[in-house]
This record gives sequence, C-alpha cells and structure tokens, in this order.
Amino acid sequence: MEKKIKAFILHSPGDMRLEEIAMPQLSPDDALVKVKSVGVCGSDVHYYRNGRIGSFIVKDPLILGHECSGEVVSVGPDVKNVKPGDRVVMEPGIPCRKCWYCKNGRYNMCPDIVFMATPPHHGSMVEYMAWPADFLFKMPDSMSFQEGALVEPFAVGLFSTRRSGLYPSASVAILGAGPIGLSALEAVKAMGAGQVISIDVIPNRLELARQMGATHVINAKEKNAGQAVKELTNGEGAHFVFETAGSDMTIQQTVEIVRDGGTVVLLGLPPQLEIKMPIVESVIREVNFVTSFRYCNIFEEAITLMAHGKVNLKPLLTHEFAFKDTLEAFDVSEHQKDSAVKVMINI
Ligand SMILES: [Zn+2]
Ligand SMILES: [Zn+2]
Repeated sequence: MEKKIKAFILHSPGDMRLEEIAMPQLSPDDALVKVKSVGVCGSDVHYYRNGRIGSFIVKDPLILGHECSGEVVSVGPDVKNVKPGDRVVMEPGIPCRKCWYCKNGRYNMCPDIVFMATPPHHGSMVEYMAWPADFLFKMPDSMSFQEGALVEPFAVGLFSTRRSGLYPSASVAILGAGPIGLSALEAVKAMGAGQVISIDVIPNRLELARQMGATHVINAKEKNAGQAVKELTNGEGAHFVFETAGSDMTIQQTVEIVRDGGTVVLLGLPPQLEIKMPIVESVIREVNFVTSFRYCNIFEEAITLMAHGKVNLKPLLTHEFAFKDTLEAFDVSEHQKDSAVKVMINI
C-alpha cells in the first residue's frame, strides 16, 4: 500500500485542514526531507486569510509554508552533497537554471521559479518533501531546526544589504521592526554599520530591536521619524535607509530620512500597486533607490553568519506550536497575539 503523509491544506480563505496525501516521489537529483520546523510568514497568513497576494491566487488546494528546515531521510542516485541523517535548511525557490536571469546569477528574478507556497506550488507544512538536493544546506550541530527555519527570513534581510552596497561605519535607519526589519538589523550590524536606528510603532518590537543591537529606536507614533533621524545624524539623515514595513507612509518617509546622496533600499511590499514619491527632490538630492526581492546565492553565507555568532536571530522566535496546532499558530501570527513576532511550527 502506498504510504500516506500528513499535510495542512488550504482549500479556500480561512479553510485549512490536516489531511493525508501521498508520499512524494524522488527524482534522481532530489533528497527526501523529513520537515522539522516551519516558520509562519506574513505571506502564509495572507494566503490563508485572503486566498491571494496580488496576481497570485489560490485556485487549487495549497500547502503553505516556505521557511523550513528538516532532516534528510533518503537521496536520489545522483545526489552527492547530502546524505541520510544530515540536518538541512531548505531554500524554498528552485529556478529554471536555463534563462538569462539564472545564467547571470540573478535566479531570484527567474520567471519560471518554483517557489514553495506560491500558487500553484506547494509549501512545507507537510511531513516529507522531495527537494532538489543542491537547494539544501547543511546546518551545523549547534543550530536548532527552529533556527534553521529562520535562515529564510534572515536571507531576505542579508540579501538586501548585499544589494545596497552598505559599507562599514555607515549610518542605517530601518523602517519596520518585524521579522524582516529585525533580520535586516542583524545583517547591517554584521556588515559593519555604525549607527543603526530602528523605527516602528509597536513598543515591544522596538524593545526587541534594542535587544538585538539597534543603537537607537524611534517610535514613529510619538515622534516624526524624519526629524528624529536627522537629530541622531548631525542633521544630515542616514547614509542608508531600509524600508521593510511596506506601507505607503513608510515608503514615502524614506526620502525624508536618507541623507543627500544616500541610498534607499526598498524591500517591503505594500498592498497598493502605486505610491506617490517626491522624484524631483530625489533627483536634486541624488538619492539612490535600490530594490531587493527575496534572495539569490546567499543561504550558505546566512548559515555561516548564524553559526559563528556574527548574528543572532533567536530573539525573533517568540512562539512555537506542534503541527496539529497549526491553525492556532496562524491565529497568533495573524493577530500578533501575546506580542508574537516569529511563530514556529514543529512538525
Ligand atoms: Zn517568508
Ligand atoms: Zn530561470
């Protein structure tokens, strides 16, 4: 009889159920991974609640989850880099490997990327996954599966610092102190930033930013963020501004916060398709705009920084749930209950 495994399957907005599916089949280049920990991402919550993000619409039943780690249980005949028993982080996007973007080392732009939990591709809230072995990264023994599942959100922050051209001693302001903002915070510190100013409106998140090494925190509900950053930077503004909150207001604020000739890095995805920006002012002040989407060729670097204590993502981990309690995990994540930041599901 065919072996069955358990998965949480989203059928329509708000309707997600624990069901049985077939054990995945391995291709020669795949490893079979027993999934151990999966972080709940804002995108998972969006699909769960609204059934769509922009043009990505959940039409067929979908397994969510893309921040994950696990243990290799078997490998296809062509796999050489991992073996059964290895503890691994899974990189959730598999590009086509053939297009211009893939060949130019920018595979995050690949139009044919198969990305976990982005319709129509299933994610990792499931007991076992077959996954191309070259997108699995061995974790050191010192790293827990929960930390392993934090590599993906950290990779988003770390990749944005690579895109930014950040240099040691530069002052940095980060809009948003959610999982990505705090990941960017750890990344810019590891890259040698001087002042690191975290801006948010939620006090407990600002407290977390302070714990994680922000030199200054600003509650944008209490102070004008632009003015406050200028006061902290000799009236000039920050050399680099990272926007991770993804709201029209914070995106517009980047220009107020950055110094003349400085760099704005946009990673947050706002719900609106278009946002009004002061372009003439930005040209006259030579503001550089850099965008950053997901990541590319960076998981090994992210794991190295975590393994050697150059960054510490553990404070992000606020809640853990057993697999059977996945719906509760989504509820806590969606409503940020009990000051939740990153909610982890252990499978
Ligand atoms: Zn995510
Ligand atoms: Zn491609």
